[in-house]
Amino acid sequence: MSDISVKYGDRAGSVPLGATVLDAIKEFDRDASKSALAAKVNGEEFDLDRELPSLDGAVEIEAIVPETRDGLEVLRHSTAHLLAAAVLDLYPGTKLGIGPALLDDPRYGFFYDVITPEPLSVDDLPKIEKRMQQMAKRNLKYRREDVAKAKILEIFKDRSEPLKCELIDEKVEGSATVYYIDDSPFIDFCLGPHVPHTGKLKAFKLLALSGAYWKGDAEREQMQRIYGTAFFSKEELDAWLKQREEAAKRDHRKLGQELDLFSIQDDYGQGLILWHPKGGIVRMEMENFLKEKLQEHDYSFVYTPHIAKRDLWKVSGHEDNYADSMFAPTTIEDTEFRLKPMNCPFHIGIYKSSKRSYRDLPQRYSEMGTVYRAELSGTLHGLMRVRGFTVDDAHLFVRPDQVLAEVGDCLDFAVDVFETYGFEKVNFELSVRGEAENKKFLGADEDWEQAEAALAKALNERGIPFERIEGEAAFYGPKIDIKVEDAIGRTWQLGTIQIDFNLPERFGLEYVGEDNHPHRPFMIHRALFGSVERFFGVLLEHFAGAFPFWLAPVQVAVLPITDRINEYAESVAEALKKAGFRVEANTRSDKVGAKIRDAQMQKVPFMLIVGDQELEQGNIAVRERSKGDLGSMSVEDFIEGAARLKASRSLSNDLA
Ligand SMILES: [Zn+2]
Ligand SMILES: [Zn+2]
Repeated sequence: MSDISVKYGDRAGSVPLGATVLDAIKEFDRDASKSALAAKVNGEEFDLDRELPSLDGAVEIEAIVPETRDGLEVLRHSTAHLLAAAVLDLYPGTKLGIGPALLDDPRYGFFYDVITPEPLSVDDLPKIEKRMQQMAKRNLKYRREDVAKAKILEIFKDRSEPLKCELIDEKVEGSATVYYIDDSPFIDFCLGPHVPHTGKLKAFKLLALSGAYWKGDAEREQMQRIYGTAFFSKEELDAWLKQREEAAKRDHRKLGQELDLFSIQDDYGQGLILWHPKGGIVRMEMENFLKEKLQEHDYSFVYTPHIAKRDLWKVSGHEDNYADSMFAPTTIEDTEFRLKPMNCPFHIGIYKSSKRSYRDLPQRYSEMGTVYRAELSGTLHGLMRVRGFTVDDAHLFVRPDQVLAEVGDCLDFAVDVFETYGFEKVNFELSVRGEAENKKFLGADEDWEQAEAALAKALNERGIPFERIEGEAAFYGPKIDIKVEDAIGRTWQLGTIQIDFNLPERFGLEYVGEDNHPHRPFMIHRALFGSVERFFGVLLEHFAGAFPFWLAPVQVAVLPITDRINEYAESVAEALKKAGFRVEANTRSDKVGAKIRDAQMQKVPFMLIVGDQELEQGNIAVRERSKGDLGSMSVEDFIEGAARLKASRSLSNDLA
């Protein structure tokens, strides 16, 4: 009997032949052996109770533990199996589809597709969850078996699981693994790994039920999809559920309707946004702010069409790499055109329209460029995922020696803008090529080195902390991604600053250098919001609809106490309008209490209440939407304070 030599982190040792993966982990790390959910053996995922394979050379083991992404995947995937087991237990004859873990979906952590003998309703979810809890408490083992293809097919045929048979037929050659959960009717065809037993699943919740088709194909079997989520501890689950409740209250689709900001109507097409007057005002303010900043930072403004010849998209590479996301071509007089999914090639056209010298650089082109993407209907979600949207786009054409300064300026710009919108936590990620000198990356090594160094230096010079992610650069260049944390702690990926070695090459961009020779410029793609629609959705949820004064669709509501005061109310409103504010006088013959409630519901920052006393003294009683009564004030004083709020784009409604 020989031993198996093992590497665990930076330690090395050996375990006897026949030892399990868990035995080996115990040998090196007691704590990890208690919390481990599964493991990686030479990079391959393994169940803990599997025998350690005896290979040439040392076997490298890494425990998959809680609070890691791999750990979460094992946990959630195992919970999906538990869900299927509970459904099979409660509803014999149920057919199973697939049940993956979801790690990046903000709403759910896993699902399982099922066809039960009688369709389920949401009212059945608590019962299923309870059965899952009962099974979890019994520490039922997940048992793995390696079986020949013919045998697996037989197993699932016996169980009348035609969909599983179809999947096995397609995916398996030779043999594959099936998993059982002991003492339950559950068997699944799966690669694993799973937690060793159901007792590891301590915090899960079923969340929703929806329709689904087998393989997402509307021609195929209709199934029901049960959604749930799972965390490592009850505390984590509770905190997440609380955040979810808070998020539901702020749902931008709900607020969009209540505040009359935008709509999506089936007659016009899913994923296409109609901006209503009140949403339009907010957007105009957002764009005005951005335009001001763009001018400050010396960008030029360009405008480009929504379609271009198909051949252009061949040159840009979109026809080859991006066609699935583009709307189909349309033909005009034998020439094919396609809607643009990106603005970049158009700005390149402007750069190429004349000969550029080193003295002309940088060129900074900005555009609110509307683009179209052929997203599948199932992926559309309010303003967050749409088919037509406007990018606050900019492309910078720069000399290599200008990259550092230009990227630095983009960073200052971004920090300034996100601060104004009240995002207190802004996170920066620098994605670089990494160690694995991967062939998928395009461009010269020295260009990459220079660009990556410039991006890092620009961040460091500003004392901006950032996460460096090796190997995550785009194939055409390194990038900085900007993520913000909203008022309830959710993270949104928004802006990006990307260097591109690909398009300048494809389009043969040049400038004449000081040496009188042609040189290739660096191209930088830069967007802060990404999509204006999506950013508006994020803002709406971040502020829970209560926009700061400068953005609010209606900034001031004048509310007369009785009809006698209507005329005075109108004159106050007129004075405010003249001073440049968005104001509404509510002269309907409602009680003032009802008028206040209305204005509160519409989240109007200030209510000016006027009655006999105010008329007599020529002043107003000011009420702020969250602070309530602020006392009386002259119209002039109010205008002065409000003008300050507007000019400074203040987040508070502090008039003083
Ligand atoms: Zn599985
Ligand atoms: Zn671009």
